[in-house]
Amino acid sequence: MTERLYYKDQYIKEFEAQVISCAEGKNGFEVILNKTAFFPEGGGQPGDRGFIGDAKVLDTVEKGEDVIHICDCAVDGTVNCALDFDLRFSNMQQHTGEHVFSGIQHSICGFDNVGFHMGESCITVDFNGVVSAEELAEIERLSNEAIYKNIPVETIYPTDEELENYNYRSKKEIKGQVRLTKIGDVDLCACCGTHVATTGEIGIIKVLSVMNYKSGVRVSLQIGRKAFEDYCEKNASVYAISNLLCAKTEEVADAVEKLQLRMKEADFRYSQLKKELFAEKSKNVSGEKCCMFDDGASADDARIFADMLADKVGIAAVFSGNDETGYKYAVVSRETDLREIGKALNAALSGRGGGKPNMIQGSVTASKADIDAFFATI
Ligand SMILES: [Zn+2]
Repeated sequence: MTERLYYKDQYIKEFEAQVISCAEGKNGFEVILNKTAFFPEGGGQPGDRGFIGDAKVLDTVEKGEDVIHICDCAVDGTVNCALDFDLRFSNMQQHTGEHVFSGIQHSICGFDNVGFHMGESCITVDFNGVVSAEELAEIERLSNEAIYKNIPVETIYPTDEELENYNYRSKKEIKGQVRLTKIGDVDLCACCGTHVATTGEIGIIKVLSVMNYKSGVRVSLQIGRKAFEDYCEKNASVYAISNLLCAKTEEVADAVEKLQLRMKEADFRYSQLKKELFAEKSKNVSGEKCCMFDDGASADDARIFADMLADKVGIAAVFSGNDETGYKYAVVSRETDLREIGKALNAALSGRGGGKPNMIQGSVTASKADIDAFFATI
């Protein structure tokens, strides 16, 4: 049975221990110490990382009454151990923040926390009922108020008798000694995780988004140092957008909306002008066939132009591109089945593509001269 130092003091960063066993496992060397400050994965909180002697601790998990440290090499004897405390403290901030948020949610809406995940980018909390946007905003506000009050986070080991008088949150049935985490009148919850000493250390709790999940909601949160890093990243983005749009930071969404509207109008005008240009270009075209070139035309433009030309000639071909990059093509006819011509075109001009009897599209890697020469033969 591993002695768990993190239950005595959750701020232990370094300690000395004896290696009880070290065996090669699936994911690395599985090391058991006589005592440890490494928290094993549990209750939504990831396992700790750090060093045992020279061995890197890749993960920490629980097996029965033992804590297993997954290491990248073998260790032996008496070892100096050091936690990656930046990671641990961030986990403590997020974990304690989740207590505050879920506790306040419970007192306002009465729903249970039925899922908790601490991910790389944010944490998610699942509640078994629908929390409205207004309620969420109020829970968020009160959570941050609880942080400003710097409330002590206490651990209580109640007797069975005392436990009966406590009204506490719990995710599952607990056997044996119950460990309660009490945060003033904000939260009382059965929990095996590690927590900061006072709510002030949480820093900030920010709701990112909410989505319907099963019969309730999944709320994404940023808490503590991760929230600060997220703020820095988003602030940089907003200022970059603000500079690009020459708009105040609080007005960037309006500025983007206006830009979208202008783009829509410009697209509409562009498409009108394009049609006018194609009509002008096809004005004096006549005969059995024609082959036009338009360097800047998109595949769609080539099709629209060829379709317009097909009103005037038997077979209308439009090639967009140039000799360096190759050409995209669209060929349209009202009366001729183009599929055989398409095969011949692809064969003669190193092309690919196909289509329906009256319209084929594709691309070729040939020169303008080769294309003209091919169309002279059909
Ligand atoms: Zn906890």
